[in-house]
Amino acid sequence: MTKNIVEKIEPIFEQKIWAGNNLHTLYPQSSIKCQLGEVKLLSPYQCYDDKYLINGIIPIVKLIDAESPLSIQLHPNYSEWWYIVKCKKNASVKVGVKKKYLNKFCEKCFNNIGIDKVLNTLTVKEGDVIKVYPGTIHSIGGGILICEVSLWENITYRIDDFNRIDYSGNTRELHLDKAFGNVNKEILQYKKYEARKDTQVILNENGLSITFINISYPGKKVNLNKKAYIIILDGIGEIINNEKSCKIRKGDSFFICSENNLIYVIGKIKCIIIKAL
Ligand SMILES: [Zn+2]
Repeated sequence: MTKNIVEKIEPIFEQKIWAGNNLHTLYPQSSIKCQLGEVKLLSPYQCYDDKYLINGIIPIVKLIDAESPLSIQLHPNYSEWWYIVKCKKNASVKVGVKKKYLNKFCEKCFNNIGIDKVLNTLTVKEGDVIKVYPGTIHSIGGGILICEVSLWENITYRIDDFNRIDYSGNTRELHLDKAFGNVNKEILQYKKYEARKDTQVILNENGLSITFINISYPGKKVNLNKKAYIIILDGIGEIINNEKSCKIRKGDSFFICSENNLIYVIGKIKCIIIKAL
């Protein structure tokens, strides 16, 4: 007997002050009925057993519904990847310090010249993928539904939160000294991969491959060998396991373990597959 596993991961919901209302229809089961800002689709909180580890890691994958811009922040020691699921026309993100300011970049320069002039602004469209390197200042703009992937979730240093008041009536803490002490001043601060039809972007990090795939024509199937996570970003389809079918749809995530190469995905879907290299 082979032991194939196809396990649905239950989402975790979080209300956010900057959130829109794009995620409610996707998750009617959520008890959060307004400003559902963040849905964790994969994390160590959901996959707490060692069997879920791939190369010693359980990545963090979240759907983020930003109606207004997220705080300006950086993570000193890990990269994150953004997949633009949906966005309004001319939506943009801020990522990285412009070349001409890199050498003399400091808190004073940031305040005197102004955020908009110091940081790169990138216009984004559905299907774009952006890798944000460690220590790179970034902010997700308003009107964007994004899927964020990172391999660690530990430290976020906030530079500006636009004086917003949270649900308990307080402004959120800023970490200016730590943030400015950890700014990535390398030329390579981010990488943008333009959206493409039926193609895939493969990113390798810490022995894991993170693949963004469009399965959008009949007959194409993606085989999943050994352990993998699959996150459905759009559409509907099926995971076939030993000829048994499990329906999948936008917003679902799964852990898969295949010992006989008989698990595969079909349908009309966009998804992320994370597995060992
Ligand atoms: Zn971030």
